[in-house]
Amino acid sequence: MERKIVIATMNDHKVREIKSLIGDRYNVLTQDYFSIPSVPETGTTFEENALIKANQVAEKTDLLTLADDSGLEVDLLNGEPGIYSSRYAGPNATDDENNQKLIKELESYKGEKMTARFHSVIAIVEPSQNKQRIFHGTWEGRIKLDQKGKNGFGYDPLFYIDDLGATAAELTELQKNRLSHRASAMRAAINYLVRKTEYVK
Ligand code: IMP
Repeated sequence: MERKIVIATMNDHKVREIKSLIGDRYNVLTQDYFSIPSVPETGTTFEENALIKANQVAEKTDLLTLADDSGLEVDLLNGEPGIYSSRYAGPNATDDENNQKLIKELESYKGEKMTARFHSVIAIVEPSQNKQRIFHGTWEGRIKLDQKGKNGFGYDPLFYIDDLGATAAELTELQKNRLSHRASAMRAAINYLVRKTEYVK
């Protein structure tokens, strides 16, 4: 039996990263494939928003569904932009507008160490078993105000990893998918799914 999983996101970059992390374990379908419009993120935490997205798409497809809610937490800004990462500079802000806004907010802290982390929460909803699960992943780094690199998306060009001497946008897709917040959360989610399948067999 072919196993299907739906990714509840409209973000093509996330789809690409998540598809590559799932590999050939599942036939991966997207929210777009079912013509389901963007789900408003009305929650106040990553967990709430991930569950809102996964539940709405699972309700419409009746299939195993996975959603990621993620963002950047900057310590000097008390965890901002956090859940507002994708709309930091306004409701339909581009990645570049969000990056410019972050640079502006941090300009007065020049010279200080701008520690930050990406945080990903993966929600899995299984309509057939009336079950939902949550998995977390984080990725520690710091913000460097000069953008570098062309890979990845979002705040990647500003997110510097000291151990690698590079921003997330300077990493290959393979490197990012070994280290990132989304990769850690997805590893835990995939372990759960694999264990469950073995148990069912
Ligand atoms: P969401 O779609 O509401 O979960 O918002 C995710 C937002 O967080 C993205 O639009 C980016 O601004 C930021 N973000 C999440 N993950 C990453 C990443 O891997 N690299 C860069 N920015 C990210």
